[in-house]
Amino acid sequence: MELDAAWADRWMRLSAAALSGNRQRLTTLDREIGDADHGENMERGFSAVVEKLDADGVPETPGAVFKTVAMTLMSKVGGAAGPLYGTAFLRASTAAGSASALGPAELVAVLTAARDGIVARGKAEPGDKTMIDAWTPAVDAAVTAEAAGSGPVEILTAAANAADAGLAGTEPLVARKGRASYLGERSAGHLDPGAASTALILQAAVSAAET
Ligand code: ADP
Ligand code: MG
Ligand code: MG
Repeated sequence: MELDAAWADRWMRLSAAALSGNRQRLTTLDREIGDADHGENMERGFSAVVEKLDADGVPETPGAVFKTVAMTLMSKVGGAAGPLYGTAFLRASTAAGSASALGPAELVAVLTAARDGIVARGKAEPGDKTMIDAWTPAVDAAVTAEAAGSGPVEILTAAANAADAGLAGTEPLVARKGRASYLGERSAGHLDPGAASTALILQAAVSAAET
């Protein structure tokens, strides 16, 4: 299994399908602690990504796929999530460079760059009850798996599983960034919607690699 442009293309299509299938769930989570639009935002953005990939044909490298994703999300998704995921994929694109496929070290560099881009843009720290609480354990797990000699599919699986655990861990947290922070202590007791979309996107990366 190569993490090539075809994989990146499958990843984005499977992300779009998962986000669309979970639109209600994401919106319900965002209704509890936000403005009830996260499902709609993510579905709109990733549908536009799929339309763009269909129109242009699959780019030649994973980095080029990520660049298309970044530009599309930044232009189509309003609210916090668009610029945050847009920056993540832009940094991922830069980290992937012109490689035709990502090996274990390149994969870890891509995931790390994506997370770092979100932090640079949104200034969230772990524990602030944001998508970073899914991304950071995912990156940590990817680093550990790569250091242990794992291949790309195992690294992605470790990252996705850690993102799921990170999502679950957002429930008791009090939000300190984004709209949910306006609720103060009342934000506790709910999962963070952005952490939920991140977990779906990382699980889609695994599915794309297993195909
Ligand atoms: P909005 O809050 O503008 O309606 P969305 O509902 O699409 O945007 O996205 C909300 C999600 O964005 C939150 O659940 C959280 O995960 C994420 N988020 C918000 N602000 C930040 C931030 N500063 N850093 C990281 N993630 C953030
Ligand atoms: Mg919202
Ligand atoms: Mg909004």
